[in-house]
Amino acid sequence: MVIKPRIRGFICTTAHPTGCAALVERHAQWERQRPAVSGGPRKVLVLGGSGGYGLASRIVSAFGYGASTLCLSFEKEPEAAKTATAGWYNNAAFDRLAAAQGLYARSLNGDAFSDATKAAVAQAIRQDLGPIDLLVYSLASPVRSDPETGIQYRSAIKPVGSPVHIKSLNVDKGVVSDVDLPPATDDEIAATVKVMGGEDWERWVAHLQREHLLAPGFATVAYTYIGSRLTWPIYWEGTLGKAKEDLDRAATALRAVLAPLGGDARVAVLKAVVTQASSAIPVVPLYISLLFEVMKRQGTHEDCLTHIDRLFRDVLYGPKTAAHTDGNGRLRVDDLELRDDTQAEVLRRWALVSTDTLPALGDLDGYRADFLRIFGFGVEGVDYDADVSPVV
Ligand code: NAD
Repeated sequence: MVIKPRIRGFICTTAHPTGCAALVERHAQWERQRPAVSGGPRKVLVLGGSGGYGLASRIVSAFGYGASTLCLSFEKEPEAAKTATAGWYNNAAFDRLAAAQGLYARSLNGDAFSDATKAAVAQAIRQDLGPIDLLVYSLASPVRSDPETGIQYRSAIKPVGSPVHIKSLNVDKGVVSDVDLPPATDDEIAATVKVMGGEDWERWVAHLQREHLLAPGFATVAYTYIGSRLTWPIYWEGTLGKAKEDLDRAATALRAVLAPLGGDARVAVLKAVVTQASSAIPVVPLYISLLFEVMKRQGTHEDCLTHIDRLFRDVLYGPKTAAHTDGNGRLRVDDLELRDDTQAEVLRRWALVSTDTLPALGDLDGYRADFLRIFGFGVEGVDYDADVSPVV
C-alpha cells in the first residue's frame, strides 16, 4: 500500500516502515561516527525504547558504546492493510542494524506495568544476557493498571490548585489561541502519580534485584522534565510535575536499595523535544516552537539523539561535574534550554506570539517536520509514493 500521514489532533494514526527504518539507520550511523568511548554501559535494558528519548538511549548505548540492548515497549503490530505504530518499525530496524554490527539486540512488546511482563523480561535477561548494568526508564503512558489491585489509573494533564488561562497552539491548523485549563481533582492528581510517578520504576528494580539480574555497580536512570516557568502552570506545577516529584522520591529510595551493590539511581532532567508524549501536552508545542527557533539561532539546538549522547558522554559515563548535578541529586542536561539569554528571548517572543506572528517568531515548520518524522514521514531519500507492505 501507499502510506500517507493521517493526522488526528496530536497523533498520527499511520506510520511509514521505510521512513522509520531510514531514520533509525541515519541516527545509528551518526552515533557510530562519534569519537569512540570506553567505560560505558555493556548490558542495557531500555523501558520505552521504541521512540523518543528511550530509542535515543538505546542507539547511544549500542552504537556509541557497543552495548547489548534489550528493549521493552508497547507498540501495535501491523495488519495486512493497517500500519503498525512507529515504534514497531523502529524496533525492527534497530534489531536488524544491531545484528548486522554483531551486537545483541532484542525488542519485546508488552505492558511494562504488568508483573507478567516483568517476569518475561527477567527471563529474557537471564537467558540471553546475564545481569544488566544499566536500566533506562523512559516510559510515557496515559494509563497503568496497578498489578496489586488490578485498578486502572488514567493520567490527567492538568494544572494543580487553580485554573490556568494560557496561550496554546493547534499544530495542525497553525492557530494560536488562549485556552482555559481547569485544575485537576485530588483523584486525578493521585492517578497521574500512579501512572507517571516512580512506583513502577521501583517495582522493576526490585523485581530484577530479586532475580539476581543486577550487576555490581548497576545504574538506573529515569527521565524528567522541569523546563521553563512558561510551561510550569501545565507541567512542573501541574499533575505531571507531581508525578515527576514522585520520581525524585523513588530515586532517593532506590539509591538506598542499590547501595549494597555499589549501584546508583538518578533522575535526569532533559530538554523539551518533539515526541509523541510531548505533543499531547497543551502549551508545550507552542513553547517548543519558540524555543527551537531561539536555540537554532543561538546554535544550541539539540534533538533527542544529540541530547542523550551528551547525557551519556558528559554526565552518566562522563566527568559528572558538580555543574551537572542539582541539589536534589538530579542529573541536569537542560542547561542549554534554561540558559538566561535563551529563556529571556523565548519569554519576549511569548508575549508577542499570535497566529499571525508565529511564522516569524517560532519554528512551526521545524516542529511539524519533527512531528512527521516520529512516524517516518518526511525523511529524505524515502519514496513516499512507493507501494510498501506495512507488515514488517
Ligand atoms: P515517547 O512517547 O516518545 O516514548 C514513550 C515510550 O514508552 C515508547 O517506547 C512506548 O512504546 C513506551 N510505552 C508507553 N506505554 C508503555 C507500556 N504500558 N509498556 C511498555 N512501554 C510503554 O516519549 P518521550 O517523550 O521519549 O518520553 C520518555 C520519558 O522522557 C518520559 O518520562 C518523559 O516525561 C521524559 N521527558 C520527555 C521530554 C520531551 O520533551 N519529550 C522532556 C524531558 C523528559
